Amino acid sequence: MIQINGLTKFIRLILVLTSIVSVELFAADLLVINADIRTSDPLMLSADAIAVKDGKFLAVGTSSEILTLKSKNTEIIDAQGKTVLPGFVDSHTHLNSGSNMVTGINLAGIAEKSIWLDMIAERVKSMKPGEWLLGGRWDYTLENKGLPNRWELDQVSPNNPVALMDIDGHSIWINSLAIQEANIKANSKVSIGGKILIEESSGEPNGILLESARELLWDASSYVRDNEISIEKIERVLSYANSYGITSIHDMSTLSDLDKYKDLAINKKLFVRIFWGEFSKYSQDEDSTNNEELLNQRIDTYKFYDTVRGPLIKFGFIKYMVDGVLSTYTAALIDPYSDRPDFTGDVFYKQAEINKLVKRANDFGMPVAIHAIGDRGVQMALNAFERSGNTALANRIEHVEIIKPDDIPRFRKLNVTASMQPNHGTGVIGKYITPRVGVEREKYAYVWNEFLKEGARLVLSSDFATSPFSPLIQLADAVFRESPDGSYEGSWYPEQALTFEQALHAYTQIGADLAGWGDQIGSISRGKYADFVILDRVLSKPVGRELKSAKVDKTYFAGQLVFSKN
Ligand SMILES: [Zn+2]
Repeated sequence: MIQINGLTKFIRLILVLTSIVSVELFAADLLVINADIRTSDPLMLSADAIAVKDGKFLAVGTSSEILTLKSKNTEIIDAQGKTVLPGFVDSHTHLNSGSNMVTGINLAGIAEKSIWLDMIAERVKSMKPGEWLLGGRWDYTLENKGLPNRWELDQVSPNNPVALMDIDGHSIWINSLAIQEANIKANSKVSIGGKILIEESSGEPNGILLESARELLWDASSYVRDNEISIEKIERVLSYANSYGITSIHDMSTLSDLDKYKDLAINKKLFVRIFWGEFSKYSQDEDSTNNEELLNQRIDTYKFYDTVRGPLIKFGFIKYMVDGVLSTYTAALIDPYSDRPDFTGDVFYKQAEINKLVKRANDFGMPVAIHAIGDRGVQMALNAFERSGNTALANRIEHVEIIKPDDIPRFRKLNVTASMQPNHGTGVIGKYITPRVGVEREKYAYVWNEFLKEGARLVLSSDFATSPFSPLIQLADAVFRESPDGSYEGSWYPEQALTFEQALHAYTQIGADLAGWGDQIGSISRGKYADFVILDRVLSKPVGRELKSAKVDKTYFAGQLVFSKN
């Protein structure tokens, strides 16, 4: 008995000693307890507490387990039952053009042109004459009155050139002063896919430039191109991302932005991880992909990793665009548009050309992302990936809005990721989707769940600024498939909706995987960098409509608080 007591005491002593050692070695910097944690980690989908040390998750578990990791310097947050999610990975954004929405004017979700015009009139009052008003996100399909024109803008902005991108980012609406400064004529030369719309009676440009025709604005010396946006503007848009819980982004802006991100990273002011893709120009010779040395040099120059914060910047894919968008009939369909029976839209490349470009990039080891919206564009992109034959690379198709059923299984077969935007789907239901493609083809529009059922990889994103930056809004769109403005009653083809867990996984881990960062971020898992968000409420299980009004309360980046609502 005495012997046993002695042994017990000895074991106790050892336990106490090891716990002291472990407190010193493993004491956390930060604990979040009493939380409803949705980890996005299939090995442990939920937990109620996390411990963070040196920028990483030290432990994930129950509150009582996690509380053993506190020491006197540990900060403890009692989440009071609120939901905690991994930091979001938005896998398709255009930060530079998006920054114009933050600093210029944002017309998203406003149905009436008369209100846009009032807002523009009000906005230019606070601007110096001659200063450009940028931004936009106007959506002419909300009000059935056709595209706006330059003369309407002239009425409200006679002294400031105006150039406002539409909701799809494929058309720009400009006033006469902008036309004058850029010297745009009805017969100005535009690159492939571009078009200057003309007013019939006068034969003059009417103020709408489609696709690449908007590059004509670059001829105006006073126009600030997206790639010349200041570092302050970039910082503003990055903190705007943090305010929505976004901690990583796949960005498709310009090389000069990449220099700005790098500056911020060097100065320890970059709180969004940037996986960058070069948007290759239409000409085969203008991009870096025809020069392996240059490509490798860029990859090296922009690889930025910080031991405290983890991966920060990486140049990792080339983007091409094979068609436009459904709203303006620039998406390429196999059969004619239902509301324009003589017209299919057109692809921007010949099949052989895009095959060559994809193969060249893949042969260099670079994944390719192809913007393809119509079923013909999607088929062309799949053909190019098939020809390239490089199924080990993370090739992807952006948007995939309409698809031929036979093409769906090709995604898994060719290891191509479907990169989709939930709000692009919900934003058009009850509006132009049925008129454009008809009831037969619309069954194969925005088929998110079909891709998962077929075993393909699905990644979700906002394509900011073409749809809301908020991942919570996008997740709600993925889960409910309901029109955000009530244009359609109920859920549209509800069999294509996702569960919250599927959608969250596609908005976190999959984006991290595509960037090659899947073992470092993307879920709330022990050993990963502590990117996470605390919501302002608890989400029910299964998630209900409270998701539609949920907001982000706090955002942490590698364990550091980078956004707080209060
Ligand atoms: Zn885009």
